[in-house]
Amino acid sequence: MPQEPSFIHDLNEQQQRAVRHTDGPLLIVAGAGSGKTRVLTYRIAYLIQQQKADPNEILALTFTNKAAKEMQERIQQLIGDEARRLWMGTFHSVFSKILRFEADKIGFTSNYSIYDTEDSKNAIKQLLKENNYDPKEIRPRTIQRLISDAKNELIHPDHYQEKFVHSTLDDITAKIYRLYVERLKHNNAMDFDDLLVKPIELFGEHDDVLEKYQDRFKYILIDEYQDTNHAQYKVTNLLANKYKNLCVVGDDAQSIYSFRGADIRNILDFKNDYEGAVEIPLEQNYRSTKAILKAADSIIKRNDSQLDKTLWTDNDMGDTITVLDNYDERDEANRVANYIKELKARKGYGYNDFAVLYRTNYQSRVYEETFRRKGVPYQLVGGLSFYQRKEIKDILAYLTLLINPDDDTNLIRIINEPSRGIGNKSLNDLLAQSRAQNKSLWRILENVDQIDLYKPAENSVKKFVSMIDELKRDLDNGKRLIDVTKKLLDKSGYMKSLVEENSPKAMSRRENILELQNAISYFEKNNNSPSLSSFLQEISLITDTDKYDEDKPAVTMMTVHAAKGLEFPGVFVVGLEEELFPVGSRNNEDVNIEEERRLFYVAITRAEEVLFFSHCRSRYKYGEEQRKKRSRFLDEVSPDVVRTETGASIKQSNNNFQENKKDTKTTNNNTTVEYDWKQPLYQKKNRSSNNTQIHYDNPDEDPFQVGAKVEHNIFGPGKI
Ligand code: ATP
Ligand code: MG
Repeated sequence: MPQEPSFIHDLNEQQQRAVRHTDGPLLIVAGAGSGKTRVLTYRIAYLIQQQKADPNEILALTFTNKAAKEMQERIQQLIGDEARRLWMGTFHSVFSKILRFEADKIGFTSNYSIYDTEDSKNAIKQLLKENNYDPKEIRPRTIQRLISDAKNELIHPDHYQEKFVHSTLDDITAKIYRLYVERLKHNNAMDFDDLLVKPIELFGEHDDVLEKYQDRFKYILIDEYQDTNHAQYKVTNLLANKYKNLCVVGDDAQSIYSFRGADIRNILDFKNDYEGAVEIPLEQNYRSTKAILKAADSIIKRNDSQLDKTLWTDNDMGDTITVLDNYDERDEANRVANYIKELKARKGYGYNDFAVLYRTNYQSRVYEETFRRKGVPYQLVGGLSFYQRKEIKDILAYLTLLINPDDDTNLIRIINEPSRGIGNKSLNDLLAQSRAQNKSLWRILENVDQIDLYKPAENSVKKFVSMIDELKRDLDNGKRLIDVTKKLLDKSGYMKSLVEENSPKAMSRRENILELQNAISYFEKNNNSPSLSSFLQEISLITDTDKYDEDKPAVTMMTVHAAKGLEFPGVFVVGLEEELFPVGSRNNEDVNIEEERRLFYVAITRAEEVLFFSHCRSRYKYGEEQRKKRSRFLDEVSPDVVRTETGASIKQSNNNFQENKKDTKTTNNNTTVEYDWKQPLYQKKNRSSNNTQIHYDNPDEDPFQVGAKVEHNIFGPGKI
């Protein structure tokens, strides 16, 4: 065996033990910031350096593709370019790749389409209509969620009926579920859940294929194991069954995806499932100040069901956590922006050192407006991703059709987009034929002569078919993807219709399509064998989180869910109000308070040095101003690490809120500082024209006290 690498000394003793324990099942349950992800990273480098496995015999599963990429880069730094050959990524991306190789064994082709949530909802809507259910009454989204839950629990449509039929909704779901599975198969399409469920089917039915992949992945590692669902558990259980070299890391206190079927039992049962499993704790937190850890600990210990864990840090006590007590959401965003500017000036932080974390995506809107107005650069993570935009999905639907013409859902999407005279009536006639003849819609279009269709529509269909056929031939003849795409944009009339529309919206759609062309060119240049099917499958799994760039000089705005695994020197957890964080109940469903609390724990533990909480006393909802109560979580935080600052607008806004305010003082037994942002006691200071720029608004502290971090335009950040 080669000598141990020197990089092992970048780790503490517990971490080293975890890395050295290479063979057999290994479980690491440890608190936030204790180096779980770091251990996985080093463990992979160690396995390769110690020649335990070839890089392509190691499979590492992460929660986002971005996390995988970062891990890979780090491993590359440790052991060199070999790291490129590792199998790393999300469950979805890794298994979609495996399915591309093996699809024919389960009745699909390697060109299968991947349906995102919208496509799958469209397919369900279509099925509801065909079966005479009114999608306004039976919401496709509801059926979709029930089907998705069933899939992740590995409940087959045949068994759904036995298991669940108690109500009409169950009945309908059972029926639509079966039809949906059939329809997807006809369409040669898989939804996100299938990317996990189909491999299990594949491995279950083909021992030889299972064994091939068991031998391929001699070592398997999984990050964020607390958020795996049953299907993910099952598929890795199958793969690890031969060599049992499975290492999972996670934190039960950070389990925040139970609404997507994440099952904490996967952690709890690990030692039962894997005989001889070794458990190694990690107890030192390297990320956060003592104050931040204390706040986090005081929150999480309120939950009944947590595993016992120790977490301590050698880091400084750090700053007290500030609670911003605001009048409304504009006030809140203003004060957050002011604080970011001030901290940047006073302590030498960059904009990218900060994150604003909220419970729900819509909260970003006021922040975007305010930050833009105040000149605070930001990057928004989440919301609609580029590939979910209508025009992008349209073009991708066309491209999909070229390799997977039996995909009805994508064909329906663009058959009359842009409008080419194949209206609803004609489409319904065509669909009826497709069902009657049990052929895909495309096969019906190809033989449109044989059916009785409104003549002008028939001619349009013929033109459409010959256009698609021509593009298919181009593709088969090896024409470049980008050229085929350009021709498609031209021949389909898609670009022309946007030019003719000539509205600002159409302009921005055109720009997005041009950006898509860039993505295609880039893909073609950077891949050895760029196929349309691998392009389409890859991009359908890109999420917005994957795009987040920590080096961009901008404040990050994201939901707490999206912030999992990340860390920032400064964090603002905003909107800490009842019925927002913890979230309010929708459709009278019970809110899982323990999960909301874990979510708050995740938010707190993203912070390294500076942490703010904030809440508003009033907030607009459905166009109405509503009173808000501060979140119960604020009262659960250990009082000796927080102080409250009441905003100026509250004082100004007469006595309306006096009662609330008193409440603040008494329930939160800590210092209350009242401060008026609008009339700073100190004017903005500009020390010299091209040196240190200090925007100083806070009267409480001297910016140039010894030890303060400052930023110098030429010398960069420094300490006084
Ligand atoms: P989370 O639960 O939030 O996913 P984690 O347990 O995965 O956290 P990491 O992200 O791996 O923790 O580590 C937290 C921070 O501490 C990182 O910046 C990491 O580089 C650093 N760190 C971890 N271990 C050490 C160590 N032994 N020496 C120095 N820094 C360390
Ligand atoms: Mg981690």
